[in-house]
Amino acid sequence: MKYLVLLGDGMADEPLEQLGGKTPLDHADTPFMDRLARNGRIGLAATVPEGFPPGSDVANLSVFGYDPRQCYSGRSPLEAASMGVALGPDDVAFRLNLVWLEAHCAKLYMGDFSAGHISTAEAGQLLATLQQELGDDDFSFYPGVSYRHLLVWKNGKERMTCTPPHDISTLSVENYLPTGDGAAELLDLTNSAQMLLNTHPVNHARLARGEVPANSIWLWGQGRRPRMKTYRELYDLSGAVISAVDLIKGIGLCAGLDIIEVPGATGYLDTNYRGKAEYALQALKERDFVYLHVEAPDEAAHGGLLDEKIKAIEAFDREVVGTVVENLAQLGDCRLLVLPDHPTPVAKRTHTCDPVPYILYDSRGNVPSGAAGYSEAEALKADSLIAGCRLLPTLLGRD
Ligand SMILES: [Zn+2]
Repeated sequence: MKYLVLLGDGMADEPLEQLGGKTPLDHADTPFMDRLARNGRIGLAATVPEGFPPGSDVANLSVFGYDPRQCYSGRSPLEAASMGVALGPDDVAFRLNLVWLEAHCAKLYMGDFSAGHISTAEAGQLLATLQQELGDDDFSFYPGVSYRHLLVWKNGKERMTCTPPHDISTLSVENYLPTGDGAAELLDLTNSAQMLLNTHPVNHARLARGEVPANSIWLWGQGRRPRMKTYRELYDLSGAVISAVDLIKGIGLCAGLDIIEVPGATGYLDTNYRGKAEYALQALKERDFVYLHVEAPDEAAHGGLLDEKIKAIEAFDREVVGTVVENLAQLGDCRLLVLPDHPTPVAKRTHTCDPVPYILYDSRGNVPSGAAGYSEAEALKADSLIAGCRLLPTLLGRD
């Protein structure tokens, strides 16, 4: 038996007036997911346990089958794992975003939490400068992809409150700076970084091209290394992860899964959807399990881009789900789980805690759900709410 998770990050949403009261998922043309929902099982999964923030870290841990209440230690330690950075027991990892802070009337606003989706090459130069000028025995800067990077604080503090920058798009940042024990050190570091970034040639060139500068760092998502058992230990399964996002790769590495790099996988709207599906099919020839993650719908929703979100959902359906479904026969017996990790409503431009619609499909046959298609409303009608971390055992038949 082969097992495949197909995850469209942030696909779930809320009804929108401009779509006649439908959600983007309901409105989008998704013939493959609709067919799976009709012929398989559909329902709602609570991927964010009560009291947890609705981050991709918590939600994806759940979908990977781990209970965040038992193993969650912050987002950044998972990303550190994916970057090959081994955390010592006294290390605290922080996600470091390169952001654009916009000055207006003596206040600073979160102009762009991604610094205009800065290129990895430009960001690499900025991180090199930060490491050279500010790196020391306590602080180390590690470059990642686009705007997503890593700071490790040796013998660091972790109990301060930090705010994810994508939650405060366009808001004044003064009320969202770190607070608590260790916040002063983070603010010092941020101020020093701002001075270096403001005069950096990379930012001069960006401004000259009419692009926003990466004029600040933003630290959040901190934590120590997590304790997780591997899929081999838990289920005696081999597997792989396909994603452009460090966080998802990090969860996969902590779960003992292989990371498969797909050419053209960008973590953005122009990603190589079909390539991901083809690599997943290939990976399953030698493995039991693949977790295929597509970030694009979430990115569109954070940008408030409704048309782009719909396009991303349709591409996910056609190129990812469609490619898998049309080649299912080559896998032999196979079970699929199709879902988002969490909702990212376009109107809110951030994640919410609501349960997400999932499809479970077994190539050997299913009891047809009777659903009209794949949507939040159809999943709600099915009246089956499951804890997110129970989905994976259900997929594997270990529930
Ligand atoms: Zn997101």
